[in-house]
Amino acid sequence: MNATTLAPALLPTYARQDVTFVRGEGSWLYDDGGRRYLDLVAGIAVVGLGHAHPAPLTAARAQLDALWHVSNLYWTQPMQELAARLSERFGGARAFFCNSGAEAVEAALKWARKASGKTEIVALEGSFHGRTLGALSVTGQPAKRVAFEPLVPGAAFAPPNDTDWLAALVGPETAAIVLEPILGEGGVIPLEPAFLAAARELADQLGALLVLDEVQTGVGRTGSFFAFEQLGIRPDAVALAKGLANGLPIGCLLVAEGAPEGFEPGDHASTFGGNPVTCAAACAVCDALTDELLAEVHEKEALVRAALPTVRGRGLLLALDVQRPAGDVVADCLERGLLVSSAGEHTLRLTPPLTITTEELEPGLELLAEALA
Ligand code: PLP
Repeated sequence: MNATTLAPALLPTYARQDVTFVRGEGSWLYDDGGRRYLDLVAGIAVVGLGHAHPAPLTAARAQLDALWHVSNLYWTQPMQELAARLSERFGGARAFFCNSGAEAVEAALKWARKASGKTEIVALEGSFHGRTLGALSVTGQPAKRVAFEPLVPGAAFAPPNDTDWLAALVGPETAAIVLEPILGEGGVIPLEPAFLAAARELADQLGALLVLDEVQTGVGRTGSFFAFEQLGIRPDAVALAKGLANGLPIGCLLVAEGAPEGFEPGDHASTFGGNPVTCAAACAVCDALTDELLAEVHEKEALVRAALPTVRGRGLLLALDVQRPAGDVVADCLERGLLVSSAGEHTLRLTPPLTITTEELEPGLELLAEALA
């Protein structure tokens, strides 16, 4: 059976490109006809180390041989080791593991309510935090919300980088301010350091928690392990997912040292959260994200900026606005053997593997320039 024969057996939640991939290696994907494509999508900012990277692959294989799953009724080593690595990266933070970005945001919302004793959330217009009902409730995109209302009450939205508007919304009943350091799905809109500093100050003044959704920006994507490291603020909690296990499903809430405790046993749970195979792969990802690799992310960003001066974003989470519908450019690129994604009607997004080489990136950018011409 080919992909077209199988399609009716799937619910139509996605508008997929007409291609079926069967193999990946580094920055390259191979379709079922043997054609190869340069991957500037990386599974939407997930496969940061590139496809079939030997470090997470070896770690996951060894763990598959040893132990797949025991649940959170017991301890496992990979989960503890991953928590320790993340805690080291974020000064003593403690982790809750789950399986996706939306779940990490759900955990953050529940933690913020419990830790603050309040229920209101301030988020941003155009933000994206996931499709589950809680995460959708704090997602500032009416088109994604409207068919599913009523959502969880208590969310209000300020325009990105509008400090006055934010200050007008945050009050004594605010449990948390929830921000993506760069709005990813909303068009790759970077938040300004001054806006983030104001959010931190407002949270401190009014007893709210500052939660950063680093599901897309985290795990090296912007050239530091967390994007906030380059932005001069320290959040109370961070949601991670996408790149953490290089393509195996994982989500994580990290609560900063010194932030309110919040959760007690029984408050929150996930059967698969902290899965040993996934956590073993994620430990290998953390170890592979060396200072050298993170520095290279900035060098590759510079290369993209030189080729496409109108690009915005940070590190290898980049975007540019295009005249034609972005979907048409994506399709044109696919025909040329190049994978790019969109983030809005007229916005192309580039999220290649962090390990992409200059020799791969340069011809890829030339192909993109041809598609844009
Ligand atoms: N938060 C952000 C910033 C995201 O970009 C995404 C997904 O794109 C999510 C949350 C939801 O993640 P998931 O699709 O793994 O549930």
